[in-house]
Formats: sequence, C-alpha cells, structure tokens
Amino acid sequence: VKKIAVFTSGGDAPGMNAAIRAVVRTANHFNIECFGVWEGYNGLIKGEFIKMGPRSVKNIINRGGTILKSARSLEFKTKEGRQKAYENCKKEGIDALVCIGGDGTFTGATIFNEEFGIKTIGIPGTIDNDIFGSDNTIGYDTALNTAMDAIDKIRDTATSHNRVFFVEVMGRDAGFIALNSGIAAGALDIIIPETRDNIDDLFETFVKAQKAGKSSSIVVVAEGEKLGNIYGLAELTKKQFPHYDIRVAILGHIQRGGSPSCADRVLASRLGYGAVVGLMEGRVNVMAGLQANKLVFTPFREAIKKHNNINEDLLRISEILAI
Ligand code: ATP
Repeated sequence: VKKIAVFTSGGDAPGMNAAIRAVVRTANHFNIECFGVWEGYNGLIKGEFIKMGPRSVKNIINRGGTILKSARSLEFKTKEGRQKAYENCKKEGIDALVCIGGDGTFTGATIFNEEFGIKTIGIPGTIDNDIFGSDNTIGYDTALNTAMDAIDKIRDTATSHNRVFFVEVMGRDAGFIALNSGIAAGALDIIIPETRDNIDDLFETFVKAQKAGKSSSIVVVAEGEKLGNIYGLAELTKKQFPHYDIRVAILGHIQRGGSPSCADRVLASRLGYGAVVGLMEGRVNVMAGLQANKLVFTPFREAIKKHNNINEDLLRISEILAI
C-alpha cells in the first residue's frame, strides 16, 4: 500500500480521534501517504479528501467526537453512490481505506471491496460494544464511565428521597453498557435484551429489597430492552407498588460525548497502528481488534454477524450483590 485514506462513519464514539491519530502517524512512520475523508462515506462520494501528516493530528488524542466528522450516507448504499466513491478514490490514487465505525460501516466496506477491489480494513468505533472480534470497541469504556458517573449522581437524589429510579442507558440491541454500569453503580436490577426477563422477576426483586430494608433503588434498563419501554415499566411498577415514589431518567447522548478514557485512548492507539500494519501485511476486509490483550484480525462478515456473549458470571454477580 502506498496511499491510504481514513474516515469515521456511523455513530461517533469517544476515542475515534485517538484512532485517526494512530492511523495517520503509523502511516507516516512507514512512509505511506495518508488522507482523511470528510464525513464518512459521504466524503468519498463527494471527493472530500484532506492530506494528513503527523501535525494534522496534534492535540486530538484527548478530544471526544471525531475531527473528520461522521455521517450516515444513504447514497453509499446505492451502486451509483459507490461508483462515484470509487472514481474519486481512483483519481486520488487511494489504494486502501481504513474505516472506523460499526457494523453498518463494515458492511459498506465489504460491498465496496467486492465491487471495486479497493482494499479495506476496519477499526471498531462504537460505544455499544456490539461487534464481534474485539473484547472492547473504541468508546465503550468511556461511555461506561459516563453512565456510571450519571447513575452515581442519581443515586444521591434517590437515597435522599427514598425513591425508585429507572435509568435508561444506551447500547442499542446490546446490554453491555447496562450490565457493567449497573454493577459498577450498584443497581438493584439490570434489564437487558440478552436475557429473558419478565416483569414478575423485577417485582420479586423489589419485594426482596423491601424485606432487606432497602429504602431506595436504581434499576438500569438497556435502551434495546424488549420487555417494554422504560415509562411502561415504571407505570407497571407503580401499579404493583403504589407507595413507591418512582422516577425515570434517560441518560441519552451524554453517553456518546466527552474526553476518551485512558483505556479507550490506548485501545484506539493500538488498533490504529494495527490497521495500518494489517494493510501492509496484505490483510483485507478484516477488522483489527484486541482479544485477551492481543491484536487479532476478524473478517468483516464475522464481525458483523456474530456477537460477543454477555458474561454469565456478571449476570449472576449483579443479582447476588444487589441485595
Ligand atoms: P453505529 O454502530 O455507531 O451505528 P454503524 O457503522 O453501524 O455505526 P450505520 O449508520 O449503520 O452505522 O452505517 C454507517 C454507514 O455505512 C451508512 O450510513 C452507510 O453509508 C454505510 N452502509 C451501511 N450499510 C450498508 C450497506 N448495506 N451497503 C452499503 N453501505 C452501507
């Protein structure tokens, strides 16, 4: 590879900047020319490439969001859109793409490679941790800490007023943020899409908590939970326990922002380096990830299709420690 382009796509995640920095500086180290693409696949279609060198990525390792901006590109989902993207890559002489994003981004990259032969390699950047092939995705650790801090603050008011709080955290269809932030913040119950919870289990937990003398409680609910919407859960609980003072808090997009944690910066640095080295070794249509602290490459198709399993021990621990 002689000329590569890096972009961020899909939902932004803290640590994406650290990954861009690592890609640009590793490329520079190995004398590979590097371009940044503006706004993900949209930038490929519009031909918005920016030449990047080591100084273009100064002072960004600590910044949330992505300096290259991100986008969801409908046009790239069409053959015509991808044709335009290919023409632009050809014009610039780009022979490989480093794609930082989630499963949608990797799906697009796979199709693009199969149609036009441009080499693609991925770096998992999403707070949801819903990608197979890396123990953690970039942004997940920061989001976890943000959620934990927010739940800690809610706990202060919950305890002061003997309230029950239902707190919704992000994660789309995955319960990793809910399970881990819930354990870390001492939640009474954690409701995630991966387990077949029913409302009676939740009520049983409340009864146990009452018997144990708990006067306030926090229930963490993953946004993708199938049991019901968080307001519905709160309403059903109120019907069952009319004396409860119940509140709902939805943490929302604060979980996507902020300065990346140390773990996310280091992960992003390792994967940014790994992606460039992977390309130099001839790896294509794979995602760089860390498993058991080792750099590994997983074919896009597997990364998209499979999911990391929820840790059964954590589920059990969360129940035992709650009361
Ligand atoms: P996140 O997990 O944060 O949502 P993501 O990468 O999954 O990130 P998506 O919006 O699903 O986010 O995908 C990013 C972009 O990838 C899309 O906007 C689109 O341009 C491209 N993409 C997704 N699916 C396809 C597809 N089937 N064909 C071509 N391009 C696609």
